[in-house]
Amino acid sequence: MTDLHRLSIREMTEGLNSAQFSSRELTQHYLNRIAHIDTQVHSYITVTAEQALAQADAADVVLKAGNASVLTGVPIAHKDIFCTQGIKTTAGSKILDNFISPYDATVVAKGKVAGLVTLGKVNMDEFAMGSTSENSFYGATANPWNLSHVPGGSSGGSAAAVAADLAPFATGTDTGGSIRQPASFCGLTGLKPTYGRVSRFGMIAYASSLDQGGPMARSAEDCAYLMNVMAGHDAKDSTSVEKDVDNYVTNLNATSVKGLRIGIPKQYFNVAGLDADVKARVEESLKKLEEMGATLVEIDLNMTESYVPTYYLIAPAEASSNLQRYDGVRYGYRCENPVDLTDLYKRSRSEGFGKEVQQRILIGTYALSAGYYDAYYVKAQKVRRLIQQDFLKAFESVDVIAAPSAPTTAYKIGANLSPTEMYLGDIYTLAVNLAGLPAINAPVGFDQNNLPVGLQLIGNYWSESQLLSVVHQYQQATDWHTKRAAIAEENA
Ligand code: GLN
Repeated sequence: MTDLHRLSIREMTEGLNSAQFSSRELTQHYLNRIAHIDTQVHSYITVTAEQALAQADAADVVLKAGNASVLTGVPIAHKDIFCTQGIKTTAGSKILDNFISPYDATVVAKGKVAGLVTLGKVNMDEFAMGSTSENSFYGATANPWNLSHVPGGSSGGSAAAVAADLAPFATGTDTGGSIRQPASFCGLTGLKPTYGRVSRFGMIAYASSLDQGGPMARSAEDCAYLMNVMAGHDAKDSTSVEKDVDNYVTNLNATSVKGLRIGIPKQYFNVAGLDADVKARVEESLKKLEEMGATLVEIDLNMTESYVPTYYLIAPAEASSNLQRYDGVRYGYRCENPVDLTDLYKRSRSEGFGKEVQQRILIGTYALSAGYYDAYYVKAQKVRRLIQQDFLKAFESVDVIAAPSAPTTAYKIGANLSPTEMYLGDIYTLAVNLAGLPAINAPVGFDQNNLPVGLQLIGNYWSESQLLSVVHQYQQATDWHTKRAAIAEENA
C-alpha cells in the first residue's frame, strides 16, 4: 500500500489488528517517506530506523498472538526534549549534542508499554525557547505548507513531521504555546493539557511551573489516542496530579456543542497585530460552532496586556535556574583545554548555548538577583495570580474560551523579528500556561497565502475531554483537519 500515511490513527489500529498490514510495513513506509521527504522539511534530528524496525517486529509478534493493546505497532515521533534511553536527546542544543540519556522519560516509557514504535526525535527551538524552531543548533525546519516559512515553535519538528506525513502523530511540549502555535502554523490539532496531567519526568526542563507535554496530530480523535497514553499520575514527578484520567477516545462525543457557552474575550479580538485573515477564519469557525448549537458570550479578560511581560519574566527566571546544570562537568558539551574551573564553566556555557538561550539566562538571573527579586520576580508572580483569577471568573459564566492561537500565520524563515515582535506573537497562548489551564488548537482554514489558521479553545482545569470532544464534533462537521500540504501528497 502506498497511502498508509493517509490513515487516521483509528484506521491504523484497525488495519494492524485485522492484519491488513503489519507494523513493519507501516513503519518501513514512514521510514521511506522520511528518507525521501525530510531532506526538504528537516523535521528529524535523529531517525532511529533500526530500533524502529525491531520495535515493529516485536509489535507484530504481539499483534499475531492477539495480545495487542490499542496502539500496538503504531509509529510516533518524539520531540527531542523527551529523554530516550540509548538514543541521543539534544533539546535542540549544542550543549547536549553528545547526550545519551540513561533512562526514558515517563511519556516515552508509557509509549513503549502501549506498543508505540519510535521513528526518531524531532527538531525544536533550543531548550524550547522560541516560536519558529530556528533557534535550533540543528538548523531550521520548514513548514510543509510552504517550505520558505517556519513551522512555528518550539515543537516545530513535531508539527512539520505530522503535517508532511512523516509521522502519524507526535509528542510536543508547551511552556507558553509550543504545542498550540506550531499546530496552528501547520494546520494540525494540538492539546496542551492541564498542568500536572502529563508527567514531566525525563522531559528536559525549560520553566518547570509552566512546562507540560501533550499530543500533536491531525485530528482531535488522533490526539485523544495519544492523550490516553500520555496522561496520568507519576510518582517520579511531584507536580503530576493524582487524579483519575478520562478515556479521551470514548469521551469524544461526551460533550455536546449544543448549549455550549463559548466566551469571546473582547480584549483578544482588538489586539494590534491580529492579522485580518486570521481574525476572519477564527470568526467563521465560531459562527460554525454557533450553527452547531453553541452560544457565543462576550467576556472580559482584563489582564491581557500583562501576559507577555509576566511570562517573559517568570519563564526566563525559571530557565536560568534550570539551565545551571549544564556546566560541562558531568555530561554535555565541554570546552577544549580549560585553564581552570571558571574557564571551564564560562566557555562550555558560552560555546554550548545559543544566543536566545543566553539572553534568557541573563534576563532570568537579573530578575532573580538580590535587590531586583521583589521588584521583578515576586511582582510577576502576583500578576500571574491575577491572570489566573481573571480566567476563573470567566469560567463562572462560560464553558470554554475562544481565541486565535496566534495573531498571524507562519513567518518566513529568516524573518529575523526583534525579540519584542517575536514575544508579542505569543500573546494568545502564554496566559494558559501562567494559569495552568488546558487548551487546544484546531485548524480552521487558510490565509490568502494558503497558510493554515488555528482556533484556540481554552478550558477550565481538567477539561481535556471536553476540549477534545468539542473539536471532534467541529471536525465531524467540517474538513479543515483533512487538508494536506502538497508535500504530504508526495509518495516516497
Ligand atoms: N514561544 C514561547 C517562548 O519562546 C513559548 C515556548 C514554549 O512553549 N516552549 O518561550
